[in-house]
Amino acid sequence: MISVVIPAYNEEKMIAKTTDVICGILKDASIAYELVFVDDGSKDGTWKEVQKASEGYPGVRGISFSRNFGKESAIFAGLAAAKGECAVVIDCDLQHPPEKIVEMYRLWEEGYEIVEGIKASRGKESVMHAFAAKCFYSMISDATGIDMSRASDYKLLDRNAINVLLNMREKKVFFRALSSWIGFKTTQIEYDVMGREAGESKWSTRSLIRYALTNITSFTVAPLQLITVLGILLFVVTVALSIQTVVYKIMGIAAEGFTTIIILQCFTSSTIMMSLGIMGYYIAKIYEEIKGRPKYIVAEETGKGRTSYSEGMDRKVSE
Ligand code: UDP
Ligand code: MG
Repeated sequence: MISVVIPAYNEEKMIAKTTDVICGILKDASIAYELVFVDDGSKDGTWKEVQKASEGYPGVRGISFSRNFGKESAIFAGLAAAKGECAVVIDCDLQHPPEKIVEMYRLWEEGYEIVEGIKASRGKESVMHAFAAKCFYSMISDATGIDMSRASDYKLLDRNAINVLLNMREKKVFFRALSSWIGFKTTQIEYDVMGREAGESKWSTRSLIRYALTNITSFTVAPLQLITVLGILLFVVTVALSIQTVVYKIMGIAAEGFTTIIILQCFTSSTIMMSLGIMGYYIAKIYEEIKGRPKYIVAEETGKGRTSYSEGMDRKVSE
């Protein structure tokens, strides 16, 4: 059986459609399936729609978070609840073409443990966005050693890979990169990013910047090394300027250094503050991780065989 994990945040318009489409495709291909919707603390009628879908289709289940925990957490909750021998993660807005699930499943049957969906094109986006995405992915690619520029969350994972991911103790996770980082026998298929069918994208520029910072710091310590590089560069400048100053002194043309001093003062103090900021960011990450709070909290479940636990807590969610 394949579990289809679908994170959904404010997607009331899409649930019924997505359920019909995915169930239809998998039924036609005679693949045993279950759908696991994870309602990521939506503020609209998403949860009602999921409940309705789970009554209409026996293979549909749903998990509802107590508040919005973000897509990554929703993916992990879905994987934790998945009962299939493999699971595929797909967006609720049908931007990931669902027909590809069948193709992915066939590759899994051939023995691949991870089948990654790779964006053939990135769809429509602004120049700024494309540039920012490029910078972000080149940093992440460097960190993981895998080309991530066209990677997406549309992936099929074998039970082995799922268990490895579920056993990771990290709280702030970047599913896309972590699922490549774990290795396993991997293959890729290309797909075209479709337009969103209904509703709107949940990403604002601010949330994207936060997302980028979180993921860069959880995957690489390059910004910390940057501080050292900056320090070295500054040291070189210092040496040069010191020599100049001493020479001027000896030549007796010292005075009039005020501008230089102001510039140097501003430059060094801003560099120090930026460096402290970067270090602070990593310390904040350590602090967050060490608190050991769960990735998400399940408030409600629907559908047959609901048995999931809130991650990191021993509270069994009541029926
Ligand atoms: N999503 C989520 N939690 C969030 C934001 C988004 O579960 O906090 C889900 C959303 O419902 C959708 C998927 O993640 O199924 C991708 O979101 P979206 O389409 O807004 O992103 P985009 O396609 O624009 O990258
Ligand atoms: Mg989308």
